[in-house]
Amino acid sequence: MTTADGLSGLHVDFGVDHRGYRVRPPRARYVCTACGTTEGPVYGHDQVRALVARVMTDHPTYCTARTETSHDH
Ligand SMILES: [Zn+2]
Repeated sequence: MTTADGLSGLHVDFGVDHRGYRVRPPRARYVCTACGTTEGPVYGHDQVRALVARVMTDHPTYCTARTETSHDH
């Protein structure tokens, strides 16, 4: 289990290959530590790459915790 730099809620498992056989597919799951939103889990190289890209670039734009901190009372 590897945690990507700078994203404490991102959990990426790169899977296991054994003698050319895919024993366990790569998978990824993201739990936003700010808003609690869970993305995934997703399975497979393409889906994992897409999830990582999404949480790094897209999630901040719709993170509910992020918008709540902008309240101006
Ligand atoms: Zn969030």
